Amino acid sequence: MQLKSNTNKILRILYIASEAEPLVKVGGLGDVAGSLPRTLRAIDPKMIKGYTLDVRLVLPFHTAIQKKIQDTQTNIMQIAEYSIPQGERVIQTRAYYAQVHEMPIYFISGEPIPNEAPVYSQDPFLDGVKYSFFSVAVLELLRHIDWKPDIIQANDWHSALSVYLLPQLRQQDNLYSHIKSILIIHNLPYMGGGYDRVFPLYYFNIQSSQDNRLPDWARSLPLPLGISKADLVITVSPTYAREIMTPQFGCGLEQLLQSRSDTVIGIVNGLDPDEWDPQKDQTLPKSFSLSNMQLRQINKLSLLTQLNLDSSQDQPLFIMITRMDYQKGVDLAVQALRMISDQPWQAIILGTGDPNLENTCRQLENDFPDRVRAIIRFDSQMAHVMYGGGDSIIMPSRYEPCGLSQMIAMRYGCIPIAYATGGLIDTIHDDSELILNTGFLFYDCSPEGLANSLRRVINSYFDHLNWQKIQMRCMNQDFSWNKSALEYTQLYLKMCD
Ligand code: ADP
Repeated sequence: MQLKSNTNKILRILYIASEAEPLVKVGGLGDVAGSLPRTLRAIDPKMIKGYTLDVRLVLPFHTAIQKKIQDTQTNIMQIAEYSIPQGERVIQTRAYYAQVHEMPIYFISGEPIPNEAPVYSQDPFLDGVKYSFFSVAVLELLRHIDWKPDIIQANDWHSALSVYLLPQLRQQDNLYSHIKSILIIHNLPYMGGGYDRVFPLYYFNIQSSQDNRLPDWARSLPLPLGISKADLVITVSPTYAREIMTPQFGCGLEQLLQSRSDTVIGIVNGLDPDEWDPQKDQTLPKSFSLSNMQLRQINKLSLLTQLNLDSSQDQPLFIMITRMDYQKGVDLAVQALRMISDQPWQAIILGTGDPNLENTCRQLENDFPDRVRAIIRFDSQMAHVMYGGGDSIIMPSRYEPCGLSQMIAMRYGCIPIAYATGGLIDTIHDDSELILNTGFLFYDCSPEGLANSLRRVINSYFDHLNWQKIQMRCMNQDFSWNKSALEYTQLYLKMCD
């Protein structure tokens, strides 16, 4: 209905996220929020019934973003000042606007988004206050700017409350009455825990839910609240969309999700083609492409030399680039590598997060100093060099909504070994005859299961001709946003028609 009255044929989407490249990135969400909105804006109207997509991004004005804007001398202006009620008091809120690489971005600032605070703190209470304020302030912003979205698209628990609050606002104010909502789930278990403590103290006029499809414990948690009210719920791969409706992966929300099964859809994430292109990658000692893949070897040798690892023998170089989190199965990888210590291999692990897992990796390096490096930090440049020089990336994630690292690795000819779950199933093809393989999947999520798979990979590695064929198949995959972005647009058109 709304589209028919939209004579200019513009569809406006407000994309709400907690992080986005190139301003700030902590994990995969930063990649996605940095590249999907941009891709959507660039879609040729001819492909979508003549509509132009006016997609804009809104982010908290994190200190890291302020620094980046300053360092890059990006023009930024304050566009609104308003207050958000918080219990007895009000919070002064400022909104800013900038174009970053032609992407229009709004920034929200206010006391709950404190100076010098990281994007996500270790304190769920502080994050609860920060992101509930952000979610409320984003909706309020629409009263103060001369631009109204047809759809708001929130991401994860950080902005799920915007989706939850929208139906209430639709009834109170015409401004909101036509706005539709989408909630993207990148990681279901992260529901905004700690927010239940935020409720009584910092309620921002948000009421807990009476919806009896929600379990009691979920009625004041941002992500379940958002799921209960979103017009559409999207997860980041079709397999994960099915998995979260089961007790094994549903985290107690499987019944709520089943009750909405016709509005829960999976769309695989894509990659930013400019950020991840081995042919143009300036961080690599040697850029390469499908036609001169042998140059990859220079990157491997350079990486080994840089880290003081032996480069005189031909042996597979495993890499891991990951948040150090139980989800990612770092512990499984370390145990599996120990189990195959009789085999030829080297490993470089890059990651940061859970101190226990960090120590497990340091210990592996201590025990195998001539074949393991554990680099405990976030280092984008090192990540690029590892994708470009590693032979195989290990991803034993216990669950994986989509996963970007395996796609990035494949684009760089680094073959994934992954547990068969979620988006890893949707993006890696493994047939036992190795005819169409783009990687190796294992089905027993244990150190033994991974160790068996690693043995299989090591054998394949020494069949150099076949290994190269797998690498070429990997590099030939289309992981650009093109297909997935079109799937998003079809949904937008359907929602607003
Ligand atoms: P998640 O979003 O669950 O952390 P993804 O596989 O979807 O996992 O995305 C991870 C992204 O973060 C990839 O771009 C990966 O290269 C990057 N990354 C993870 N850890 C590090 C690190 N320590 N240093 C640099 N990049 C990292």
